[in-house]
Amino acid sequence: MTKKKSAFTKEFLNEIKALLLQEKENLTDELDRFTKKNPHTSDDYDASFPNYGDEEDENAREVAQYTANKPLEITLEKTLRDTNKALESLSKGTYGICKYCDQPIDEKRLRARPTSGACISCKKTLTDEV
Ligand SMILES: [Zn+2]
Repeated sequence: MTKKKSAFTKEFLNEIKALLLQEKENLTDELDRFTKKNPHTSDDYDASFPNYGDEEDENAREVAQYTANKPLEITLEKTLRDTNKALESLSKGTYGICKYCDQPIDEKRLRARPTSGACISCKKTLTDEV
């Protein structure tokens, strides 16, 4: 089955591209605040271990901070990957096509969430199943 090309206007796609690039910048900035980028892979970040001091309570705070950062790091990383994937599909011309039913995704949905990979009805079906 061949993927359909996006049926969106150039203006809409440009708008989405701007949104995605902005999002990517925000995510990278946020990740830079508390992680070190893995130099070997493009989208992998590691939460850096904070250093408050060597006292026992300071060590405990370091662990707590690191533990608090980890889920955030994972969420940001995932969003960054989705954003990069969306940018890639934009350049391939397959952006905005539902990965399940191959139909174009509603523009309003894409504006609200430019990284959406599924249309509302497929998403609904999937969510109902779990
Ligand atoms: Zn669908």
